[in-house]
Amino acid sequence: MAKDSKPLKVLFVSSEVSPFAKTGGLGDVVGALPKALRRRGIDARVVMPLYAGMKWHELDGLDGALSVPMWWGTARAGVRLGSLPGSEVPVYFLEYNKYFDRPYLYGPPEGGYADNLERFTFLSRGALELARAIRFIPDVVHAHDWQAALVPVYVNTLEWAKPLHGAATVYTIHNLAYQGVTDGGAMFIAGLGREHYNPGEFEHFGALNLTKAALQHATMLSTVSPTYAREIQGPEFGCGLDGVLRGRSADLVGILNGVDVEDWNPATDPHVAANFSTAHPAGKQLCKRTLQLEAGLPADPSIPVFGVVGRLTHQKGFDVLAHCMDRVLSWNAQFVLLGNGDREAEHFFGTLSARRPDKFKAWLGFDNGLAHRITAGSDFLVMPSRFEPCGLSQMYAMRYGTLPIVRATGGLADTVQRYEEEAGAGTGFVFDDLTADALGNAIGWALSTYHDRPHHIRAMRERAMETDFSWDVSADTYEDLYLEAYRRRRGHAFAGRLPVHGRAG
Ligand code: ADP
Repeated sequence: MAKDSKPLKVLFVSSEVSPFAKTGGLGDVVGALPKALRRRGIDARVVMPLYAGMKWHELDGLDGALSVPMWWGTARAGVRLGSLPGSEVPVYFLEYNKYFDRPYLYGPPEGGYADNLERFTFLSRGALELARAIRFIPDVVHAHDWQAALVPVYVNTLEWAKPLHGAATVYTIHNLAYQGVTDGGAMFIAGLGREHYNPGEFEHFGALNLTKAALQHATMLSTVSPTYAREIQGPEFGCGLDGVLRGRSADLVGILNGVDVEDWNPATDPHVAANFSTAHPAGKQLCKRTLQLEAGLPADPSIPVFGVVGRLTHQKGFDVLAHCMDRVLSWNAQFVLLGNGDREAEHFFGTLSARRPDKFKAWLGFDNGLAHRITAGSDFLVMPSRFEPCGLSQMYAMRYGTLPIVRATGGLADTVQRYEEEAGAGTGFVFDDLTADALGNAIGWALSTYHDRPHHIRAMRERAMETDFSWDVSADTYEDLYLEAYRRRRGHAFAGRLPVHGRAG
């Protein structure tokens, strides 16, 4: 291949990009994956909105205004240019204050903004207009979640017989529970004719469903773990779209998320009381002691600490944990919880914390430093998720030698190796049924292993800490996905410079 041949060009379109804007795993993925791709020689670039509170003055303003056709006329948007920290990945911020200068990304906790369809129509349309304006005609457009779901539709429709029509589209589901559903009468806001409101595109059980349209239009589909990719093709996890996903089974792949191995590194983490590694494990004991003191619990190294970190929502299954708290608190064990979300759950855990200060501490809020200290200082991390597309916390925990106790669903099933008592194999405790009994049994199993088979715990810790959760692993698979999407779109293989596989320096 000639040295000067063109690299693969990939345009990411996302409503969240860490560290600029993030409410969950979506932001982490789009903040990290393009960097790993760039290291392999792919020309990855990112488009996102410029939200309120961003440091716009630190970004370069591009000359001129971008014209974005909207149902009501033309939006004239500013474009600012930055890059993903520590990389040369360009990030284009679409600046249109009428839509994005607001206190929340999607709306207050009570519900989304009424004009979300219009706001994210602007993002999706604007991203393609921008590509044209800067003459970056991508080989692949990679759209993420419902906020960018219109992108694959536009590539097939509005861009018909134009240069962007040649781009393959990849649509990634980060969480199928959020689909972008609105009234069917709003079709015109998306800039498309009423003829697209049909069951093969946008119409789904009498409503307009953006995710459904993306699932029908994208060249290839992906989600964030192999198990979740299988699960969403069935009624239990399909959120009403399992039939559509089954119809595209051959085009759907599950690719595990990586984690930010710099930010979550026990050997260098500035948030924790002492750094540690497999070669120098002693610091973990100090992290545990410091956590026990911070939680106001007896600082006894022989009592195992079970950590819980996460959004207190139905998805995470903490209601099931609530139902087994009486049982597990009757044992010689300590529990620390950090989370916020559902009022009822906050009330329950807050009250329990006041009632059982000898064994249980709850912090109700969002605190990144504390999340690190719990991850480092606990012996076990409990994640009884109802469903979990990928999940990051269990991977962070393993990097810190904190053994996860997880339900076998989605990415939890794919990242945690089940402990086997005979061989001492595994990296965590896995249970199947989402019941208080099964969860309590799993916690009890971890507790008895801690006391009766400490050599297994030590071996599991080492194994967990040495597992490679970096993005390099998944970036290879994304490359394959892009090349396959390209081939299907164009009918021939990509002829430019191929990405450099394997670990780049
Ligand atoms: P999800 O994206 O569904 O919330 P993940 O496990 O993929 O779940 O990611 C959750 C991330 O958010 C982790 O980095 C976790 O540490 C962090 N997190 C969740 N709740 C809190 C909280 N209350 N305080 C600090 N960090 C939190």
